[in-house]
Amino acid sequence: MDPIHWKDEHRELQRQVRRFVEDEVLPHAQQWEKDGKVPREVLRRMGALGFLGIRVPEAYGGAGMDAMASAVFAEELARCTYTGFTMTVLADTEMAAPHIIRAGTDAQKKRYLVPITKGEIVAAITVTEPDAGSDVQGLRTSARREGNGWVVNGTKRFITNGVYGDLYVLAAKTDPKAKASRGMSMFLVERNTPGVTVTRKLEKMGWLCSDTAEIVFEEVRLPADALLGEENKGFYAVMQSFQNERLVAAAIYAGEAAKAIEIALDYVKTRKAFGGTLWDKQAVRLRLADYAARVEMLRQLVYHAAWLDTQGIDCVKEVSMAKSIGGELTHEVVHGCLQLHGGMGFMRESTIERMARDARVHTFGGGATEVMLEEVAKRMTP
Ligand SMILES: Cc1cc2nc3c(=O)[nH]c(=O)nc-3n(C[C@H](O)[C@H](O)[C@H](O)COP(=O)(O)OP(=O)(O)OC[C@H]3O[C@@H](n4cnc5c(N)ncnc54)[C@H](O)[C@@H]3O)c2cc1C
Repeated sequence: MDPIHWKDEHRELQRQVRRFVEDEVLPHAQQWEKDGKVPREVLRRMGALGFLGIRVPEAYGGAGMDAMASAVFAEELARCTYTGFTMTVLADTEMAAPHIIRAGTDAQKKRYLVPITKGEIVAAITVTEPDAGSDVQGLRTSARREGNGWVVNGTKRFITNGVYGDLYVLAAKTDPKAKASRGMSMFLVERNTPGVTVTRKLEKMGWLCSDTAEIVFEEVRLPADALLGEENKGFYAVMQSFQNERLVAAAIYAGEAAKAIEIALDYVKTRKAFGGTLWDKQAVRLRLADYAARVEMLRQLVYHAAWLDTQGIDCVKEVSMAKSIGGELTHEVVHGCLQLHGGMGFMRESTIERMARDARVHTFGGGATEVMLEEVAKRMTP
């Protein structure tokens, strides 16, 4: 059933994304996995269909929709079963672009947001470093003032869209003496800027069509207007942005887990064993029913959190709950659905095998379960 907070525009978005996935993703995604990238034409096509500007204000070519729309978009895209494709799109539109939407000047929005909305520029959120993952305050990349501009030095790691993308939304320390929370700023760095080097395209267990980079910034000179938002307020920008990222992540989990259950259901209903089908076994039926119940709970929490966001109500606790429950649950459900496929689930030709590899990230990517639960715990006492 549709969540009660959906409006007609959300139902229409879901319908359009589902059709796009069936017609233009599923026939080609296996090839993209082999190629290790999503072709740029696909993103341009998504831009033409309006999918990349859902949250972008109308003045910059978008639809100016709300967090509910982000959740619908993410959940439905995720049902494609290729997390690499889902993340290529959402790292751009839901993780990098929101920084520009929130803090960009009119000139920055015209220069970057408009082409992002068309799929002409693909953006990456560039925060994690070799020595700073969960602990964002530990980052070492620095930006020092020089003349009228900035000079950036440092290394970033695990950056989605970092190899083939065009624009890095980068977090760097701008006040080395201050605590990181008070001395960090955000910058817009074009990939072809001298001194920027993609040192590695990282090989991964899953998300094979998503490119993941290690990037070195060496004496990278940026103009003054590369600063995004207020100087030394970058930590708060990252923390604020995490809310949308994590809500979207939880929506992805709900979409993937629901799809895994449907795939397992199709399989057990036709797989013959012990004089009937696997579905005739009560243990199998109850397992899938239990998964369905818990995934629906997750989905309702995601949409509740999205609704709180649309009302301007603080939802850090609900988003953190959805991210932590969702990451763990989807991991469990997808592997449980693989179990029901028996040997076939272990074969590269089965969808569930890829889904299991892809889902492994969900308990730590974009906020580890433990870190999310800390956020919940902090809000359990006055
Ligand atoms: C495929 C992929 C794509 C990614 N894309 C991006 C991207 O586009 N941009 C970007 O900036 N980053 C990206 N990341 C980075 C991702 O967000 C980090 O991996 C994540 O934040 C965890 O950081 P870490 O890997 O350094 O783990 P660490 O911080 O070293 O943590 C390791 C483990 O320690 C435990 N732990 C950590 N903190 C605590 C705590 N406080 N209490 C208890 N236990 C704890 C958790 O189990 C955690 O999994 C990506 C990562 C992957 C794998």
